[in-house]
Amino acid sequence: MTTSFVFTGGKILDTTEGILRDDLEVLVVGNTIAEVAQTVSRPEIAQVIDLAGKTLMPGMIDCHVHVVAENLDLWGNMIAPSSLSALRSARVMEESLQRGFTTLRDLGGADHGLVLGVDQGLINGPRLIICGKGLTTTGGHADLRKRTDDRPGIMSERLGSMGLIVDGVDNVRAACRSFIKEGAHFIKVMANGGVSSPNDPIHSIQYSRAEIEAMVEEADNAGLYVSAHVYTDKSIRRCVELGVRSLEHCNLIEPDTAKLAAEKGCIAVPTLVAYDALALEGEALGLGAAEFAKIDTVRSGGLRSLEIMRDAGLPMAFGSDLLGELRKYHCMEFELLAKVLTPAEIIQSATLVGAKLCHLEGKAGIIAEGAFADLIVVDGNPLSDISLLQGDGMHMPVIMANGRVVKSRP
Ligand code: ZN
Ligand code: ZN
Repeated sequence: MTTSFVFTGGKILDTTEGILRDDLEVLVVGNTIAEVAQTVSRPEIAQVIDLAGKTLMPGMIDCHVHVVAENLDLWGNMIAPSSLSALRSARVMEESLQRGFTTLRDLGGADHGLVLGVDQGLINGPRLIICGKGLTTTGGHADLRKRTDDRPGIMSERLGSMGLIVDGVDNVRAACRSFIKEGAHFIKVMANGGVSSPNDPIHSIQYSRAEIEAMVEEADNAGLYVSAHVYTDKSIRRCVELGVRSLEHCNLIEPDTAKLAAEKGCIAVPTLVAYDALALEGEALGLGAAEFAKIDTVRSGGLRSLEIMRDAGLPMAFGSDLLGELRKYHCMEFELLAKVLTPAEIIQSATLVGAKLCHLEGKAGIIAEGAFADLIVVDGNPLSDISLLQGDGMHMPVIMANGRVVKSRP
């Protein structure tokens, strides 16, 4: 028998308008929101959830995670047996769900097996949107080999690997086709230097124009898009010109590029907390001067980049990009965004904008008929107090994912 729920007696957060609505009930049947009305129909078997004045909002979307990076030892993750990585990934996913994230977009690592694991109820986790592995050049951001390590590649066949080393247009095309065949929802490219990688300065440009063009074409042929890891204005502009749609990080973006990206219909995914968490924990993690210098470069541009992107009308989706144990800082991203954005803007980034990037418009990030029953009950009004979304779900007595109650605090 299909399970039904009626949510009544509270306020409904309208993510489109950025307001709370009174006097509305929500009927959930199976995994779908079946009705939103003043008085919804009540199937006999419906379980009534009295909101008692609290707020009902859609489950949130984190558009930049790496669920296989359960451990900060990225090399250790990569060489771990895939069975172990799958169990570790399940832990990461389940923790995110308990913080109110009912959809995660994985930017490198997760495979179709994890998607099925959620679908089949083996993982009590959020819906997963995947890209396969992040494409990286030799020496690029996802090439974890030290300078003295000349082994031919990385163990990209294992689940715990976030990247795949691919050079050359033909090889890039073949890799894209494999990922798409294996269920990728988009293609990820490392197009710029990175913080966690050993050999590539932040300002290095990665992949040729022809290679990125090939990725864009292969993705587009499948009705998908390319997402790029980018920090510097130069690398962002190049990707925008080449047709990349999803711009990760963007810490060092300048106003003209942000305007161009907005005109081209791009979406940016700032991930400020990743660098704040590294700055907080870096010493304990044994990071050296070179790594700290890289962190400082991108961290110092973070808040300015938010202002630039907002002023340019470039939509931003919520992202975190926390690796390993740093995921305990997940909710700190709200606090950082709040230094520049309004609570309504932040909530929209974690719902509507994220849904667009996941190709889930009308299905996720919204309380509307026909949408997935991804719902959170919040103790108060997050439009006036964004900190209610922090604290690892502390202010969320009920969390429902795809019609299943995954948290219920009496
Ligand atoms: Zn990145
Ligand atoms: Zn990432």
